[in-house]
Amino acid sequence: MTPVLELRAVTKVYGSGAVAVHALTGVDLSVNAGEMVAVMGPSGSGKSTLLTIAGSLEQPTTGDVLVEGTPLAGMSAADRARLRRRHVGFVFQDFNLLPGLTATENISLPLELDGVRARAATAAARRALDELGLADRAGAYPDELSGGQRQRIAIGRALVGERRLLLADEPSGALDTQAGESVMRLLRDACKRGAAAVLATHDAQLAAWADRVVFVRDGVAVDQSRPPAGPESLLAAGTEPSR
Ligand code: ADP
Repeated sequence: MTPVLELRAVTKVYGSGAVAVHALTGVDLSVNAGEMVAVMGPSGSGKSTLLTIAGSLEQPTTGDVLVEGTPLAGMSAADRARLRRRHVGFVFQDFNLLPGLTATENISLPLELDGVRARAATAAARRALDELGLADRAGAYPDELSGGQRQRIAIGRALVGERRLLLADEPSGALDTQAGESVMRLLRDACKRGAAAVLATHDAQLAAWADRVVFVRDGVAVDQSRPPAGPESLLAAGTEPSR
């Protein structure tokens, strides 16, 4: 089976010379359809960098990123943008809802940008709001919504349409435990329907929803689903999630 997402020996260096930051130093990661992988690690370990590179928002310094077997490096900028719009759902901390659009319009906009007719896009957005328990807020603007409601709308927007790859960065950041769990349930449902999800989080309870946990420390990813090499591996760095 071709993985939905594959990172091969990905490195990312910000800046150069004495001020260079090695955010990722050789990350291999493969995520199949239906699978949810949690990426855990201390602040500054490279989790967000990994997600932005996986979503083609940034390019790696070296190494390859493949989405459904296609290397992103070989694609034109326009094709990468189309891939992001159509197949990748981003759930990032700062929500990025457009203030001048209602909840429904915020969700339907990416579909419309992708050529779906307005009526069909609105209907899909209404269904998403219904699933999120926000049907009664369909006409509300972002500043009329609570942080948790905005977060759920951002998630609705990320999941609507035929997304194959879902990238979530601390998706429960502004949520209480119950709302955080409902977000995880939505991500899991999307995986059941065949999406692949990568979730960066500090929260071990959220990571417990994942099929696999990958720890990142100093730009290196350690996949905990692989059997440990021996007792000494238990003492290796990166086996303990940090907060
Ligand atoms: P995390 O998400 O685990 O907190 P990040 O991926 O945000 O970690 O950051 C990894 C490292 O890369 C940090 O040292 C951070 O300061 C640095 N970094 C991230 N983005 C940039 C950027 N755009 N320019 C320079 N350094 C960056």
